[in-house]
Amino acid sequence: MKKILLLHTGGTISMVEDKQTGLVSTTDAHPLVDITAMVTDAAEIEEVQLFNIPSPHMTPTHMLALGQKVHEKLATNTYHGVVITHGTDTLEETAYFLDLYLQTSLPVVITGAMRSSNELGSDGLYNLISSIRVASSDEAKGKGVLVVMNDEIHTARYVTKTSTSNVATFQSPQLGPIGIITKQAVYFHQLTVSDESFPIQQVSKKVALLKAYAGMDASFIQALYNSGIDGLVLEGLGQGNIPQDAVSAIEEMIQQGIPIVMVSRCYQGVVQPTYSYEGGGGQLKKLGVIFAKGLSGPKARIKLLIALEITNTPCELAPMFDR
Ligand code: ASP
Repeated sequence: MKKILLLHTGGTISMVEDKQTGLVSTTDAHPLVDITAMVTDAAEIEEVQLFNIPSPHMTPTHMLALGQKVHEKLATNTYHGVVITHGTDTLEETAYFLDLYLQTSLPVVITGAMRSSNELGSDGLYNLISSIRVASSDEAKGKGVLVVMNDEIHTARYVTKTSTSNVATFQSPQLGPIGIITKQAVYFHQLTVSDESFPIQQVSKKVALLKAYAGMDASFIQALYNSGIDGLVLEGLGQGNIPQDAVSAIEEMIQQGIPIVMVSRCYQGVVQPTYSYEGGGGQLKKLGVIFAKGLSGPKARIKLLIALEITNTPCELAPMFDR
């Protein structure tokens, strides 16, 4: 039988609803611990409660500690796979952080729930069992960190939370899920390549994320620069453009050695330096803005946080975002 390491970090999957008020929160007694006995026919489970926090409280420091715990446990060579439970709000950021950080070909699956443990139609136990099945599957090896929710398997790189409350919230708008889980089997229908790994020791940099909008001027970018950030991710318009009044602040930041990474506020497609007008991607690229291929703003921010632990030289950073 496969042995799976189950790491809890918190989130709705670990919460209970107060039937008087309808409010949902964490409890001291983790509601999933008791039900783990129900999944022993799927795999042998070893459980660790690392954190018990809502995922809006999750920080890159927590993500690194989680990655280090996975490495420490896998170094014992006693597990066939890892399942992590996590709040859904920032799940995609932790998943992508681990995807970039971990050095293992064993399956690592992150899951969560949209309805807490005692709510009608709670999806936590179901998602947990699906995740254990995926983590126990030989086919899940070498695919990087996977997100399993609602009978679907997604890659950490492309998955995103699309609905505030629907159980079918996790989608991969660019490429769709890479597999599905049925009553009888786990099926993968897309090949994946996961070959990036950055074994950093700390996450010490400050990286901001700013969405562009019609009429944007230089003031917010300037304020971020003045706050002492080490890098900025801009969710630009369309293919990677910004209003002309914001350009001066970008130029100044780059001249001061602060890298700026461009992604799009569109949720499909890639940014590219197409336009030469003031604020167009062609002009921004010439100024030194780094164009990130196919990443969302939050994920580009995670990557820049990690990359800045290795280098802040634009010519070394740019290829990291061109994959
Ligand atoms: N707010 C919750 C969290 O991210 C939502 C969830 O887990 O579904 O912790």
